[in-house]
Parts: sequence; C-alpha cells; structure tokens
Amino acid sequence: MKQNISLVDPEEEVVKAIRHLSDEDVKMALSVQATLRHSLSSSLRNRGFLEIPPVMVSPLTDPLNHPVSDPRISCYGGEMWLTKSMIFHKQIAVQKLGRIYIMSPNIRLETSDKAETGRHLYEFTQVDVEALEWTRDQSMDLAENLIIEAVRAVREENRKEMEAFGRDISDFRKGFRRISYLDASREYGDEFEKSLSADAKEPVWLVDIPLQAREFYDREREDTPGILMDMDLIWPEGFQEGLSGGEREYDYGRILERIGKKGQNPETFKWFLAAAKQGMKGSSGFGIGVERFTRYLCGLKHAGMATAFPKIPGRISL
Ligand code: AMP
Ligand code: MG
Repeated sequence: MKQNISLVDPEEEVVKAIRHLSDEDVKMALSVQATLRHSLSSSLRNRGFLEIPPVMVSPLTDPLNHPVSDPRISCYGGEMWLTKSMIFHKQIAVQKLGRIYIMSPNIRLETSDKAETGRHLYEFTQVDVEALEWTRDQSMDLAENLIIEAVRAVREENRKEMEAFGRDISDFRKGFRRISYLDASREYGDEFEKSLSADAKEPVWLVDIPLQAREFYDREREDTPGILMDMDLIWPEGFQEGLSGGEREYDYGRILERIGKKGQNPETFKWFLAAAKQGMKGSSGFGIGVERFTRYLCGLKHAGMATAFPKIPGRISL
C-alpha cells in the first residue's frame, strides 16, 4: 500500500485518533504499560543501571537484518538517520558508564505487509539495556528478573485491568526454558517462532542464532563459528518475539570482518568503526519492546492498542 501524505484526510485521521483514545481497552492497556515502564525502570535503577536519554537522530544507526526503508533527514548539508535502535550508542556509552538503559523510541518503516501481524508498529519504544563486560547469561538472568518483577507489579497494580481483559498471568519462575535456533527449526520447521510461541505457556529463550539471521554486531561463539552469542525471548500463547539481545563484538578487526561477511559497506558504519578503533571492551545487553510486552500481558489483538498514537505500517496517521 503506497500512501501519499497529501491524499490523507487530516479530519478523518483525527477523528480516528480521538476514537482510539476514547477506547476503554486502549486506556486500560496504557495504564498497564505505565506500570510496566515504571517497574522496568526501577528494577534497573535498583541494580545500578543509569538511565541515559534517547538519541533520535545520528549519522549511525542499526542496519537491522530485515528490509525497512530508511528514514533520513537532511541536516546541515549532510544526512542523518532517525534511530532504528541505539545498539551502537549503547556499545559506545557503556564503555564509560558501565551499566545503562534507555527508554528508546525507534522509527522503523516496516513494510506494509506487516500491518496485520499485530506485532509491528513503525514507531515504538524499547527498553534498551547494556552492561560492560557482562556475558549473555548475565543478561538473560537480568531480563528474567525484570520480567518477573514487571509481571508482579502489573498483577498488583492493575488487578482491575487484568480482570477486564480476562488475563490471569501467574508469576513466572526463574530459569525460562532455552532452545537453540537450530533445534527449534528442526522441531517446528520454518515457522518455528510461531509454533514455539503457540505451544508455550511461559516465556521461552531462543538462543544461538546463526550469523546470517542476525546483524553483524552480535558476537560469534568461539566454540561454534557461524553461531552467535545472542538470544530472543519468545512470549507464550502465540504472541511471539518480545526481546532480542546478546554479547557484542568489540574488536575492530573482527567487526570489519563481520561487516564483510554480511556483504555490507564499512563506509556506512565508519562512525562505529572509529569508536572501535579507539579500543572497546565487550558488553552484553538486550532490548524489550514495551508495546509488545503490554500486548502480551493484556492479550491484545494488535500492539497499536498499547500506544496512544499507533503507527501501523503502511498507514499515515497522527
Ligand atoms: P530488535 O533488537 O530489532 O529485535 O528489537 C528489540 C525489540 O523491540 C523486539 O524484540 C521487539 O519487542 C521490539 N520491536 C522491534 N521491532 C518492532 C516493531 N516494528 N514494532 C513494535 N515492536 C518492535
Ligand atoms: Mg529481534
């Protein structure tokens, strides 16, 4: 679907936006999301993580591993990108700040065939976390704690909303099940994420994702070249991916090599390469999508119900 902004009727769109904001389910989902944001934030602060402000525009952003059209803005005679994720800024900032997180708004112009997946927005927020010299296991342990604490907070503070949504999510126990990407694809076939999620009653970790299926910045396993030290968290009941993360590559030479393996142009990442040239230590972290987390907790049909001004792929809206 191609939409020309001059053909979109603002009056119609504003009426739609007001109708959305008047929807009782949207109001309740926003209240659940407010609890979530607060809980994630205080769980991180309690563990010594420093919140840093989001970067919205930069000459450096996430290449992603799937096609999106790239929102650029012209800036002082040059070009900058709108942030698709703060992965590189996290990696650079964590060198000096140790443990950080960002309530990070991302713009990803997802293709319009993703309008009805229920999971995709072209403007969303992730809680983006990174810790210096941490391993993947440490990140997974932290993520589990954050999720368990957030679910507990929602159960306590949003009893009324959860009841209205007919959701009874019990407290999760630490040590979520882990399955490797290769085992999952062997067991469930090509659409493994969907089936894995549909079968699950609790969140599941998908680990060890092959190099070609992810971006160049996640670290390759030393014992199994071609497999990355990364992970996705899959929400149960068919809600699918809710978090991605991993250990990061930090060595200048290996970063160049990985950019090459992906067939990407090092020129695109010259700001990151310049940082790596200064010398970087390893780090690990993840990003949790807050609209998807809210969607899962409330059992919503679409993540757009978990935000005030939803941006559905392919549609121009307020
Ligand atoms: P990524 O590292 O690209 O997997 O992004 C981190 C997290 O952000 C994902 O696990 C999702 O929870 C969330 N996310 C990514 N893309 C979108 C999108 N288009 N709409 C809503 N949430 C998203
Ligand atoms: Mg992901």
